[in-house]
Amino acid sequence: MAQIRFRAIEGTRDYFDAEGTRFDKATTFAGELFARYGYARIRTPVFEGTELFARSIGATTDIVEKEMYTFTPGSDTITLRPEGTAGVMRAYLQHGMDKQGGLVKLWYEGPMFRRERPQKGRQRQFHQIGVEAVGSMDPLLDAEVVSMGLRYYEYIGLTGEHAVGLRVNSIGCAEPECRPAFRELLREAIRPNLEKYCKSCQNRFDRNVLRIIDCKSPECQKLNENLPKSHEHLCPECADHFGKFREGLDALGGAYTVDHTLVRGLDYYTKTVFEYTHAALGAQSAIGGGLGNTGGSLLSTAPAMEVFDF
Ligand SMILES: [Zn+2]
Ligand SMILES: [Zn+2]
Repeated sequence: MAQIRFRAIEGTRDYFDAEGTRFDKATTFAGELFARYGYARIRTPVFEGTELFARSIGATTDIVEKEMYTFTPGSDTITLRPEGTAGVMRAYLQHGMDKQGGLVKLWYEGPMFRRERPQKGRQRQFHQIGVEAVGSMDPLLDAEVVSMGLRYYEYIGLTGEHAVGLRVNSIGCAEPECRPAFRELLREAIRPNLEKYCKSCQNRFDRNVLRIIDCKSPECQKLNENLPKSHEHLCPECADHFGKFREGLDALGGAYTVDHTLVRGLDYYTKTVFEYTHAALGAQSAIGGGLGNTGGSLLSTAPAMEVFDF
């Protein structure tokens, strides 16, 4: 019989022995740690209706426009999950957990799927661990989630010279106070130099001006140095929220820097944003991050087993 040579699809890979063990460890560690903070594990399907992701992630994002694996078997349109939040929130609502009142804390782990360009070194099937705390806008909840993330990285051995960095910012409320005014402020500051920005930024100017702040092009970053900072232009309520969040984080002992270039350019993202970075991935490369968003906080991270030996 002729030998058929099959290969794993580009952007996917096999994990043997030690690497596989690290997957297990990362998950076990996460489960142990998150349980101490009151999180219960949830396992959701790896595919959901396409509309769920389009609505929750945002139809104009790169993920939804270019990166989803979508299939149409029969009359359904289904998508392999590109991230964990949408499925968890779908389950939360479907099972009436919103009607129980109070705080619901869930954590998840598993493979996610995105058609990333493989030359960036990203996997098209990648693993993510995340938490969702739903039902409270308390800034101290954001502080707890962010600090729990730090504990997680310590727990898997990223300490001392291998410790992760933490950047935080507040992008304020979406409507009616912070966002519209800040967008205008940004446009005024950028307009005189708009021609010097990269093509993507010029496109973002009208559509999503916030995204210009986190452009990775060195020229744009240079131009961005003197832009107004969102955390210095918050409405009183958001300023109070950010202040309490930082006090909480200080009390929990997390070292961080406030970085105004950390924004998440989606309209429904509000207030606290945060990101963990690690030098092994380059100066400002994120290994995890999240936000305090619509009624809760979320954290998601690559379990980091691709990069670190633990
Ligand atoms: Zn506000
Ligand atoms: Zn740019």
